Amino acid sequence: MTDAEIRSLFPELMNERDGRRMVYLDSAATSQRPSEVIEAVGSFYANDNANPHRGTYLEAEKATEVYEEARNRTASFIGAESRDVIFTRNTSEAMNLLAYTWGAENVGAGDRVVITIMEHHSNLLPWQRLCRMKGAELVYLYLNDSFEITDSEIEEKINADTKLVAFTHVSNVLGVMPPVGKIISRAKETGAVTVMDCAQSVPHMKVDVNELGADFIAFSGHKMFAPFGIGALWGRDELLESMPPFLSGGDMIEYVREQDATWAPLPQKFEAGTQDPGAAAGLLAAISFMERIGMDVIAQRERDVYDYALSRLSELDHVEVYGPADRERFGAIPFNVKDVHPHDTATVLSADRVCVRAGHHCAQPLLKSMGLNSCCRISFSVYNSREDVDLLCDSLKKVRGRLGL
Ligand code: PMP
Repeated sequence: MTDAEIRSLFPELMNERDGRRMVYLDSAATSQRPSEVIEAVGSFYANDNANPHRGTYLEAEKATEVYEEARNRTASFIGAESRDVIFTRNTSEAMNLLAYTWGAENVGAGDRVVITIMEHHSNLLPWQRLCRMKGAELVYLYLNDSFEITDSEIEEKINADTKLVAFTHVSNVLGVMPPVGKIISRAKETGAVTVMDCAQSVPHMKVDVNELGADFIAFSGHKMFAPFGIGALWGRDELLESMPPFLSGGDMIEYVREQDATWAPLPQKFEAGTQDPGAAAGLLAAISFMERIGMDVIAQRERDVYDYALSRLSELDHVEVYGPADRERFGAIPFNVKDVHPHDTATVLSADRVCVRAGHHCAQPLLKSMGLNSCCRISFSVYNSREDVDLLCDSLKKVRGRLGL
């Protein structure tokens, strides 16, 4: 498929305003949606609308079917069993679920929870709060000057007191991967459970839970062409079985008596209350879309644009790009225009319909460790092209002049 053909599948990218198309470089925040996802959500409400898992009439059964088919497809997409895939609202909710169930039951005073300094706040704050509640210690794996987590950092920090290691698969700021295999094998040696934040990997590369070897992974549908409001937590069956429910209410019980209750089997135990089958219908369509395009094609297109962007940005002498120049990176590139506040840069770019994010990217400890308060970030998806990067660079060249520098 050509760049124009792929772009034409995404209605928002075809909207012209003031005669210009949008150059969307903020897919790490949320992706655009292809027509088929938007139509699948509409079709659910037009044809299958009922509360899943409850009624016996036709629409209720169809709603249940769509919802469970979405779960089956999500499971097979990541090489998992359906009963081990729990729908959450997003990655943040999945991490909170883990902190307040597995964490609350298994982390105590004097224990350690280890995370990396590049975590998104979603994979930091639940553990920070848990540690404060329990008197446990939150310990960070830091990056060295080459943005790497060294073997000695891993061996020293992940020790016998460590109950849980939570880390991102791909940094939403730097686009780098931590040494996943080394962290997981060290955690296994010390008996710690591993949690991976796959919000920035599942949309961009083939992720198989069996190959990864972590105990839990979480990701958000809205970053992978699906609607807002649906994400997933996958966990090892025996761990999910051993955990208490997170939220309680309708649909997650086996039997309720006046003073106690027993829980539904997996995955319903973790899905209290009415879920979002419309979003599930969209997630199902999004996964079908990704499988049809092919994860290898998605990854290869993004690789090309990413490497092209790194090299084009490096030609602009007023632009400072952060992160390693010599390693494979994915998805996101952080930068600043010299002497310009990132919000000013983003505002000037937006006048040219170039959409970038400016701020701390929900990773304040990482930015602080890089000596920054904020920066700009571009991030990519399958619909981005070299032309998008050229338009970004044309616009970037104007930034300092527009601000009188
Ligand atoms: N982790 C990472 C690495 C992310 O990039 C994000 C979203 N920016 C999240 C977690 C949080 O995702 P959500 O807001 O969908 O919960």
